[in-house]
Amino acid sequence: MTTLVLASRNAHKVEELRRIAPYVAWLVLPDELGDPPETGDTFEANSLEKARYVAERMGCWALADDSGLEVDALGGRPGVYSKRYSPEGRDDTNNALLLRELAGWAGNARGARYRCVIALVGPGGAFTASGACEGRIGEAPRGSNGFGYDPLFLPDAVYGRTMAELEPAEKDRISHRGAALAQLPALLRSAGIG
Ligand code: IMP
Repeated sequence: MTTLVLASRNAHKVEELRRIAPYVAWLVLPDELGDPPETGDTFEANSLEKARYVAERMGCWALADDSGLEVDALGGRPGVYSKRYSPEGRDDTNNALLLRELAGWAGNARGARYRCVIALVGPGGAFTASGACEGRIGEAPRGSNGFGYDPLFLPDAVYGRTMAELEPAEKDRISHRGAALAQLPALLRSAGIG
């Protein structure tokens, strides 16, 4: 089994990665490494930066996920700043700010997508893959599964339910993270470790 260090401490991401790619032995970022930097302005740059930080310090293969929500009416915001969108940076305050910013926007103007870029970095190189999930932003939060913006995100692939109202396996089948990780076996082969 291939072992990868995940360059993240987000418990929800760790859970989803373990669920989607159970064929990898996932190790979580050790506390002594601190938080990997994310100074880029694209998902790809940030995922590469995070994975490189961990791979260089641990001398092994690392995988990073950089993801976020792009809202059409907001010109693609919050994008790479999805985690730090509201000043408090919590899921509930981020969702409340999103509803405030979208007040007055209806129908297709509430179109949005989740994006995810994974980066696999190690002694033999760096490889990336991306995934997206199209949908729109609802009028009020619904559901208690998932994390982040899931209670407000209505995926096009399922009618009338938010991402937070889906069972975990249903989310994985249509999610941006599921789409990016579907390419992980090919990345592992390119890296010579799969
Ligand atoms: P990152 O850890 O810098 O990649 O930030 C990701 C942020 O994007 C999270 O904190 C969430 O706010 C948002 N996000 C990414 N993926 C998801 C998802 O699957 N559901 C809901 N929110 C997500």
